[in-house]
Amino acid sequence: MSVTIHSPLQQLKAPERASVWVKRDDMIDPYISGNKWRKLKYILEGALASGRRHLVTFGGAYSNHLVAVAAACARNGLRSTAFVRGEMAENEMLLLCRLYGMELRFTDRLGYKDKRGLFERHFGGDAEACFVDEGGAGMPAVLGCAELVTELPPDTRHLFCAAGTGTTAAGLLKGIRETGMDTLLHVVPVLKGGEFIRAEIARYTDGLDRLVLHTAYHFGGYARTSPELTQFIGRFAAAEGILTDPVYTGKLFFALEDLLSQGRFAADEKIVVVHTGGLLGIWGMKEKFSVL
Ligand SMILES: *Cc1c(COP(=O)(O)O)cnc(C)c1O
Repeated sequence: MSVTIHSPLQQLKAPERASVWVKRDDMIDPYISGNKWRKLKYILEGALASGRRHLVTFGGAYSNHLVAVAAACARNGLRSTAFVRGEMAENEMLLLCRLYGMELRFTDRLGYKDKRGLFERHFGGDAEACFVDEGGAGMPAVLGCAELVTELPPDTRHLFCAAGTGTTAAGLLKGIRETGMDTLLHVVPVLKGGEFIRAEIARYTDGLDRLVLHTAYHFGGYARTSPELTQFIGRFAAAEGILTDPVYTGKLFFALEDLLSQGRFAADEKIVVVHTGGLLGIWGMKEKFSVL
């Protein structure tokens, strides 16, 4: 995937958000979206370099990661298989996976827990098969995400991102450390009890003194939402022309809006928000938008 990527910086329009720029990683690709593209970059390179032409991965039925792996494999001439958590299902995202030629194996929740075991049992004897953890977690993903920092304005004072596992955040912090930029990383966990993200990040990098966690914006937990959030997503899209999703980036921009309204940043401090993509998540929650 050694192609030039399209991820422009876009300044927000509303006067109260004038110090905010959005790093449009959602524009890299509609289906290998945002941070998933960066996380897969070195995983794909590693697989291709070692002659493993079949990626085997894991995810839920509404996983952006699965769609990204399916699309990236198809582009690079690789096979893909996914163990999908739970009962046989059909939805917009799994349809895309199948169109890209991914083989789906639905797996009950108990069996799904032992991912290495599943891989060994089904593909242990296949020298072409390459294990890719759920969400692509691991050092290659961290290194891919760290590269984003080199694309930022040098005077970025505050960098914002959403976190699920924290792998993307770890990469960004690592990038900040390595470039020596005077930037604080603000992370908005989308799960309840988001404090765990700190330990996840510490597995990959130091520099945790530059990390600020905002744990109050989970809206009840992973993939939970509220009318307040869906209404915000609609208002923000109409005002700025930027779509966000209810699982990750909607919560991120909501948090930013709330912190701005509290006057937490000086007017001359440049804020950059990473739009990590994931817009297919809107289709997983269509009915939640009926209040709009
Ligand atoms: C997967 C995903 C994340 C979470 O990334 P982590 O590295 O697991 O923290 C954030 N935003 C979007 C849009 C995603 O699809």
